[in-house]
Amino acid sequence: MTSTINQLAAKKLVQQLVQLGITDQNVLQVMSTLPRQLFIDSSLMAKAFDNTALPIGSGQTISQPYIVAKMTQLIAQIKPQKVLEIGTGSGYQTAILSQLFEQVYTVERLRELQIKAKATLRKLDCHNIKYKCRDGWLGWSEQHQFDAIIVTAAPIDVPQALLRQLAPGGRLVVPVGEQQQMLYCIERKEDQYYQTAIEPVKFVPLVAEII
Ligand code: SAH
Repeated sequence: MTSTINQLAAKKLVQQLVQLGITDQNVLQVMSTLPRQLFIDSSLMAKAFDNTALPIGSGQTISQPYIVAKMTQLIAQIKPQKVLEIGTGSGYQTAILSQLFEQVYTVERLRELQIKAKATLRKLDCHNIKYKCRDGWLGWSEQHQFDAIIVTAAPIDVPQALLRQLAPGGRLVVPVGEQQQMLYCIERKEDQYYQTAIEPVKFVPLVAEII
């Protein structure tokens, strides 16, 4: 019974995403089948498929499905293989990346959120994910480059380490700002970076501290 309700709610959510301009069929397919209720507290179950951000504890939120879809669609356009996410949070965006792309790397600064997300993602048989607990301003490591990078918390400025860790031909999708934030898609062509403003957004801050 509950699963039928969730399937209907997921279908309705996907219809809304289409109305809001999401066109990538693979992204829509994954979002129509992924059980978002597993990434939130059971007390919020009734809102699992609302097109809104929801609290996940530790003052953080699971991102709004529309923004998750938009950011994923922006990187899917270049067919990346190796993708980095900054801000694992609940693991919802991580799960979507894991189902669409070959190798997923995800960084989270709060150990308790990382542990919970890992458990959820294991339950969903997402095994192509590498996890790190560290300051996302530093990216994954200077030895790695990624075809695409998604940042799910807002820095006040684009982290330089992420620009270096973006492979030539790659895309970095990042919300930037404090009260007023803009989502940017930054493309690297050899050693030049080209920035496109996508739309205004509202994310929790990418905390600036070394842990
Ligand atoms: N993608 C997540 C969004 C979580 S909110 C989801 O769909 O659930 C953003 C996350 O970024 C939070 O979990 C927060 O702890 C994390 N975060 C904030 N600053 C960070 C930093 N400097 N390094 C790594 N993670 C950070």
